[in-house]
Amino acid sequence: MNTASAVAPALNPPVRILMGPGPSDIHPRVLEALGKGTVGHLDPYYLEIMNDMQRMLQALLRTKNTMTLAISGTGSAGMEATVVNLIELGDSMVVCVNGVFGGRMLDVATRAGAKVTQVEKPWGQTFKPEDLQDALQKAKPKVVGIVMAETSTGAWQPIEEISKLVHDSGALLLVDAVTSLGGVNVDVDKWNIDAIYSGSQKCLSCPPGLSPVSFNQRAMDVILNRKTKVQSWYLDVTMLAKYWGSERVYHHTAPINMTYGLYEALRLVHEEGLESCFARHLLNHRALKAGLAALGISYTAEEGHQLPMLNAVRIPDSVDDATVRNGLLNRFGIEIGGGLGAFKGKVWRIGLMGYGARANNVFVLLSALEQLLAEQNHRFDHGASIAAATAVYSGK
Ligand SMILES: *Cc1c(COP(=O)(O)O)cnc(C)c1O
Repeated sequence: MNTASAVAPALNPPVRILMGPGPSDIHPRVLEALGKGTVGHLDPYYLEIMNDMQRMLQALLRTKNTMTLAISGTGSAGMEATVVNLIELGDSMVVCVNGVFGGRMLDVATRAGAKVTQVEKPWGQTFKPEDLQDALQKAKPKVVGIVMAETSTGAWQPIEEISKLVHDSGALLLVDAVTSLGGVNVDVDKWNIDAIYSGSQKCLSCPPGLSPVSFNQRAMDVILNRKTKVQSWYLDVTMLAKYWGSERVYHHTAPINMTYGLYEALRLVHEEGLESCFARHLLNHRALKAGLAALGISYTAEEGHQLPMLNAVRIPDSVDDATVRNGLLNRFGIEIGGGLGAFKGKVWRIGLMGYGARANNVFVLLSALEQLLAEQNHRFDHGASIAAATAVYSGK
């Protein structure tokens, strides 16, 4: 068989502005890092890169946890890794569900064989310690799982108070920081988080493919004292620890070039400084929010609990979801996210993540939205969104 006709066209991805729920805009320096020469996964140079990446991750997570590493896989792999290492068949786990990702954690925990108790809140709301009290008393969980930045609703979950309650009950706290890490403060040691996972493609300006995770000593003691082997060979942190630790025992081939990418992404975060990086996310969020308000568009999450990097907003009644999102993509090259689950067709999810959290993106989106909304006969003062965002940037 002649296979010459099997040649597909050369890659030519369209230029996009990624303002959805992830992946977000990749920083040019990260893209460049991905293309550097591949070395072996036990090459002394690679081991140095791993060490430095681990150190930069610890600093970003504000933790001294030795067991801080990047799982080869996306954020969901980190979710799976933290759950399957902590949970043995029949263990009790409480999962807080107020959106898609809490729901996913519940599914992962159930598949891992946990006896799962779900604590629910309506989408867009957050949990207060008293919401968990009953479940903690009744289920006596080994682990409590909660999502810090619920990407499906834009709700920002405070962790510190809930952590106190969880630890008073004797449970371990597992936190989903996939969308929060790099965009807002995540303080693993101060908040006493026992296990945490994130992802490379949200606020870290890196393509999808790596999932930073960290376990404290308490969590590691639980894992090292398991009665049964971790059900997943690939995600078993006791084995991964032998590669990431001083022994350097081969486990699986690390995705070398993705590590370069995350390494450069972390360099960028630390060059900017954590406080400046978080302040930048907040400023751009405030500008976008002011602009959207001028268009009569409001947020789904409660005031005071709105994530800066994920702006989940209500689509005005008279406006068609698909027409606007297709227009943004096809005429302006801008990707924003639609609503998931209960929010499908009702909500847009606008990301201001990592490199994407900048004034250029805010202005180009607001201008494009003004044009598309005007075409749908949505009423607003033309130019008002630009003026409102400008006022925020100029401190007025
Ligand atoms: C994106 C996301 C995930 C899943 O990460 P993937 O990289 O898509 O596997 C999990 N939790 C939250 C809160 C997310 O935003």
